[in-house]
Amino acid sequence: MRIPETLPVLPLRDVTVFPNIIAPLSVSRPKSVDAIESALAANRIVLLVSQVHHETDEPGEGDLYGVGTAGLIIKTLKLPDDRVRVLVQGLARCRIDGLETDGPHLNARVSPLSEPAVDGEDVTVEALQRNVRKLLEDASSLGKNVSSEVLVIAQNLDDPGRLADLTASNLDLKVADAQTVLETLDPIERLRRVNEVVGHEVEVLQMQAEITTLARGEMDRSQREYFLRQQMKAIHSELGDTDVSEECDQYRDKAREAGMPESAYEELERQVRRLERMSPESPEASTIRTYLDTMVALPWATSTADRLDLVETAQVLDEHHLGLDKAKERILEYLAVRKLKKDAKGPVLCLVGPPGVGKTSIARAVAKALGREFVRISLGGVKDEAEIRGHRRTYVGAMPGRVIQGMQQAGTNNPVFLLDEVDKIGADHRGDPSAALLEVLDPEQNGAFRDHYLGVEFDLSNVLFLCTANVLEPIHPAFRDRLEILRLSGYTEEEKVAIVKRHLLPRQLEENGIEKNAPTVSDNAVRSIIECYTHESGLRSLERQLAKVCRKVARRRAEGDERPVRLTASNVSSWLGTPPTLPEKALEEDRVGVATGLAVTAVGGDVLFVEALAIPGDGKVTLTGSLGEVMKESAAASISFVRSRAGELGLSSEDFRRHDLHVHVPEGATPKDGPSAGVTLISAIVSAFTRIPLRSNVAMTGEVTLRGKVLPVGGIREKVLAARRAGIRHVLLSEANRKDLADVPAEARRDIEFHFVEDIIDVLACSLTEMPSPRRAPATPADLAPIETTV
Ligand code: ADP
Repeated sequence: MRIPETLPVLPLRDVTVFPNIIAPLSVSRPKSVDAIESALAANRIVLLVSQVHHETDEPGEGDLYGVGTAGLIIKTLKLPDDRVRVLVQGLARCRIDGLETDGPHLNARVSPLSEPAVDGEDVTVEALQRNVRKLLEDASSLGKNVSSEVLVIAQNLDDPGRLADLTASNLDLKVADAQTVLETLDPIERLRRVNEVVGHEVEVLQMQAEITTLARGEMDRSQREYFLRQQMKAIHSELGDTDVSEECDQYRDKAREAGMPESAYEELERQVRRLERMSPESPEASTIRTYLDTMVALPWATSTADRLDLVETAQVLDEHHLGLDKAKERILEYLAVRKLKKDAKGPVLCLVGPPGVGKTSIARAVAKALGREFVRISLGGVKDEAEIRGHRRTYVGAMPGRVIQGMQQAGTNNPVFLLDEVDKIGADHRGDPSAALLEVLDPEQNGAFRDHYLGVEFDLSNVLFLCTANVLEPIHPAFRDRLEILRLSGYTEEEKVAIVKRHLLPRQLEENGIEKNAPTVSDNAVRSIIECYTHESGLRSLERQLAKVCRKVARRRAEGDERPVRLTASNVSSWLGTPPTLPEKALEEDRVGVATGLAVTAVGGDVLFVEALAIPGDGKVTLTGSLGEVMKESAAASISFVRSRAGELGLSSEDFRRHDLHVHVPEGATPKDGPSAGVTLISAIVSAFTRIPLRSNVAMTGEVTLRGKVLPVGGIREKVLAARRAGIRHVLLSEANRKDLADVPAEARRDIEFHFVEDIIDVLACSLTEMPSPRRAPATPADLAPIETTV
């Protein structure tokens, strides 16, 4: 079709019409309507050209692009509001050479633009075409409104220029973009341009789709959650359940009040959320509640202000305890350091001594003096690490460990925390509690103590830890290393009497509600109770006996009997019953083969009898009486020693070969160990073989070497006090123990005569009623033949 040189112009807003494309247009501007009428009157051809700016109403010279499309009007439809719907078909690209603006419509002088022939490599063209087709499909699947006919046409269209036009016209491109496509005459170049523009468009569409999906996903989830929650609420209220969310909020509030650190709060929040999602009656919910209750009840940020007035502290300690000067002094020093240096990382004080000497009560007094809370956990028999550190929550019936329980009980994060009986901790396959305790006591680590049950860190660095133990030996060495030992040893009778008068009796009277008309208790009565009814270095059973008296008095008073009560040495038994028979007494007469030793056991110092019996036989040795490894070795060494010195002691190798030896240490139920019975064992054995009796009023303690040298041993104060309690007058000690007498109370030194020895022969000289006369012949090798030992 030939294009006339002058054409009426139809300016287009927001759209570009390409050759060969049929486009519906809606025309309303009077000038445009006029242009259409004029075209219809002539050859039905108009120039379709886009406006540069959408908003221009009366476009002139510079408002239109320089290239447009000559289009054939296929159909028109006049609408009642003077608008006209027009269907046009693009014919050819035309350049505008001039514009007449003064008529009833715009007229343009145009010259059609012809496309250059396609001369590219076939492969490039093919690739470009495929790409564009693919993009068109993508755009369609991403929501662009491209009809399926167009897609089919595009598939079958081989002309690159026309494919470009078809694609560009079907994708609602921006006018500026579409115009560049229109103005590109070279078909391959044009296809490339379309490829670019459409590629960009598809990318934008993809991104848009992604954003939409994300947003929808987010919305869906929160909506779902909301609906489910509402449903859950409805179900709970239908079932008559209490409102969990309120409970959960309460936990959150309490946690905030407790001032727990953020990490702990996060864990709590996690559990609260689990609780929210759970049926409130389920067993699991109650486990979570127990956990949450524990968490909010812990003293995360609650503490008491320290008083740390040393003068006052000294007063409090004196008020509650008589004597114990060394211990008090050491405690005051310890507190003084803490006063001067707030973050002092010293060792932990460990009070060591027999039961009832005031370890617990001194710790309690320290707490009182400092104005801190006091908690005590007993570690006796603890074998499982979980007892210290708690069980993981996955266990049924899991609980926090004792340390955290103690903290909960204290209610503040800086209590005085007493770890009682650290010497009774065991260890087995369930882990070593000492290791966990080490962590508790280590100032480097206890700022972040992790209990398995809590699952979060708890700060123990403000706690003042103290330990107690009866004896030091069983404590794990690594653990003992952390401790500073403070020994409290037993009391003498005089000290006990004074303590009873000042502390124990007034306390018992008060506890039993005896306010007026109190009984009078004479010193001799107390002494008689100590002697006949108790067997200890501490004060426990003495206190129990006093309590017994007080209860009886209380009963009398309650029955209205106000007669005064006088407790004297002679009427003690009418209040306390017949005294139990107590073995802690010196032997009444000198005996063959029974030596009196002195030992320190878990209950303090004690006298210990070693019995040896030589009976006709063939040289067997039997050891009985719950002896520990060291004591057995010591017994074996003693036998060897006696045999090696047989001649000197008036014995012959025949004596050993013809006799069996039985060594027994009575009170078989109490385990005995340690090397300090060496002298006693040898004395008993020599006496058994020589048949010379041992003195009953001599007690001894000391380790012996194979060559007969007597070595020093520990616990002298305890042992001497026990000897005195038993009424013994002579104590044999190693010369090297002479210095330890400084610790022994003056009254004991007064009552007892000490004999310091260096060699076992000196011991025998003192312990046997007479020295055996030596045999002439020296020891023969037969004396040293091995002897079988059975235990
Ligand atoms: P431990 O902890 O060493 O076994 P406790 O502290 O339980 O002993 O003491 C037992 C009893 O003896 C307590 O009632 C305590 O008050 C009292 N007690 C111990 N030593 C003294 C002392 N030196 N002065 C006053 N009372 C004491």
